[in-house]
Amino acid sequence: MTVSVATLGFPRIGARRELKIALENYWSGKSDAATLLATARDLRAAAWARQRDLGADIIPSNDFSLYDHVLDTTAMVGAVPAIYEWDGDKVDITTYFAMARGNGHQHDTCNCAGAPAAEMTKWFDTNYHYLVPEFTPDQTFRLASGKIVDEYLEARKLGIDTRPVLLGPVSYLLLGKARGGAFNVLTLLPRLLPVYVEVLNTLAAAGATWVQIDEPCLVLDLPDGADDAYARAYAELIRDVPAIRFMLTTYFGALGDNLATALGLPVHGLHVDLVRAPEQLADVVAGARPDLVLSLGVLDGRNVWKADLNAILDRVEPIVAAGRKVILAPSCSLLHTPIDLERETELDADIRSWLAFAVQKVAELAVLARALNNGRDSVRQVLDASSAAVASRRTSPRINNPAVQARAAKADATLARRASPFSQRRPRQQARLRLPAYPTTTIGSFPQTPEIRKARAAHARGALSTEAYNTFLREQTARVVKWQEEVALDVLVHGEFERNDMVQYFGEQLAGFAFTRHAWVQSYGSRYVRPPIIYGDVSRPKPMTVEWWRYAQSLTSRPMKGMLTGPVTILNWSFVRDDQPRNVTCRQIAFAIRDEVVDLEKAGAAIIQIDEAALREGLPLRHRDWQHYLDWAVESFRIAAWGVADATQIHTHMCYSEFNDIIAAIAAMDADVISIETARSRMELLEVFADYHYPAEIGPGVYDIHSPRIPTVQEMVELLKLATERLSADQLWVNPDCGLKTRKWEEVRPAIENMVAAARTMRD
Ligand code: GLN
Ligand code: ZN
Repeated sequence: MTVSVATLGFPRIGARRELKIALENYWSGKSDAATLLATARDLRAAAWARQRDLGADIIPSNDFSLYDHVLDTTAMVGAVPAIYEWDGDKVDITTYFAMARGNGHQHDTCNCAGAPAAEMTKWFDTNYHYLVPEFTPDQTFRLASGKIVDEYLEARKLGIDTRPVLLGPVSYLLLGKARGGAFNVLTLLPRLLPVYVEVLNTLAAAGATWVQIDEPCLVLDLPDGADDAYARAYAELIRDVPAIRFMLTTYFGALGDNLATALGLPVHGLHVDLVRAPEQLADVVAGARPDLVLSLGVLDGRNVWKADLNAILDRVEPIVAAGRKVILAPSCSLLHTPIDLERETELDADIRSWLAFAVQKVAELAVLARALNNGRDSVRQVLDASSAAVASRRTSPRINNPAVQARAAKADATLARRASPFSQRRPRQQARLRLPAYPTTTIGSFPQTPEIRKARAAHARGALSTEAYNTFLREQTARVVKWQEEVALDVLVHGEFERNDMVQYFGEQLAGFAFTRHAWVQSYGSRYVRPPIIYGDVSRPKPMTVEWWRYAQSLTSRPMKGMLTGPVTILNWSFVRDDQPRNVTCRQIAFAIRDEVVDLEKAGAAIIQIDEAALREGLPLRHRDWQHYLDWAVESFRIAAWGVADATQIHTHMCYSEFNDIIAAIAAMDADVISIETARSRMELLEVFADYHYPAEIGPGVYDIHSPRIPTVQEMVELLKLATERLSADQLWVNPDCGLKTRKWEEVRPAIENMVAAARTMRD
């Protein structure tokens, strides 16, 4: 039986970010819908042809999306929330983008007319965000988009018979949210299934023989009733769509306790993730019906490393030899990888030789299939090259730094502990800082004005000398320090004007990190990110922020915060090496940050803030894995933070407010002050800190920086009063929700003045 190669989805954005440009031109009115749709069609055609030429046998369609594939599903089943005033016929492009981005205005939150965008949230544990479907108890569904059929036919016209992808009905419901009274979204399944049956039969009539139906929720802890929903959904679909075969696709982890559920479904094929969960292979093979086609996700669809092809063959050969029909695939859609390594001509040659992006991964799969079908000798040279790359990476001095390894391996508990408990540190810090009640501060960044962006771009191009650029940055810093003194903030920041991004800025100065020029991946809609690649042992060759801090502090007698990004956030927003556990890499970053913290203290910083914006989003998908993650994440923070004396105050900042299920870990970080996002929930989320008797100080954000609205003094006083109902007044700081870099000075100036006035009112 021949082994074939499948992909489950290919990056949509275009090698030159063509989709972003086309979308933004359309949104700004610079081009019309026809132009946008033509670009989209070209991108699809190019992706199909590329995959075919690389040797993929099974190529997906409908993996493309103008914005998000969950939103596409919402359009397909006509689940448009009432506020968008949809006419109920076909979901047109205007309605589609209204759900994606809101209509009437482009503000995040304000009082003008128009519907806001649908809520967005993280797609499992990736950095991709989807638009959350909303369901009401009387929700109805109807086929309202022909996209999946159109794109299937579009590919056929180009001579490519694709396997259309759709998000399965159970995962679609589970990823949505009940609105208008609490009810179980799975009760909507009987109403939803007929739409799936209809669209699948239309696909069959158009000529499709297989579909890829994604049910990634099968790797989660399933709610009650989900087993039955799966059984019912797939029994009905297979009964009512006899002409189509179903490849049930799971990814981002092990099926675990849902394995029996998945194997019990009457589908024709099952895809499993063997990168995140290699150990599940034996159980899957043992439990699968003999005629079940197994799609083995052997290459990492979430990371950028070349695979060890011989090692994969060792695992797959026996399964093929036993007569099983096998398909080789990436672990998940390649949506989460950059497109093509060929464009990274400036990347160090060694590092480059270890990498594979989407294009290279499809080629790797084709080699694997050839080896399985015609024997390893038929691709001997490529396999040898793969082994050589793996070996070179393993032993490279670029990766291995024995001193770093030894330091991180030392299990010294005192490293992650402060000399004294908070109760004893606090009076020492108070004596040193002499702050008033309700001390005011900001989270770090001030507006990144067009002027600053221009200077940075000019410096990057070489059009502005480093000297001139630094002089410019010092002026900006001096100005913002002076302004903070004038408005009488108590604890100042330097403004972060020298930073492009809170992770990249540190990554560029740490050993073990590489940066790309074109390796974009979609974060949401037309927002793409270019995560750093952590390839080797991480260390800090020299101080990173001390000079900026020293300069800023020299301008004022008020305390100037040292400002750092924490190890967990740096880890979670990067491509991470796959040759050692994440916690080991995190620990190495923690030591590098610790060195910086100690140097800031030596330079005289009385307050150091270590941001952990991404700590919560690193939580594993399965609840049972949470504690392990939280343990090492907290330990890493503590290693980073606790090289300082009692009188040095450590702050941390988190851009969110859901602490209910992780409050013990937050407390274990043992920060002296934590600032969080609470303005939008009207301080309700402080409840958990109160219930936990959280001992340290808290700055609940009183100014929602995600909105251009300028909060009034009265409003912020009210929020602070609400906070005092839950926490004691001497625990409270007064600050915005997050950094101010995305806001304009016209908004920031009055907002911060009002915030300081609100603190004064509270003091009186
Ligand atoms: N210190 C950073 C800033 O103010 C924090 C940003 C964040 O938490 N996302 O920009
Ligand atoms: Zn933040």
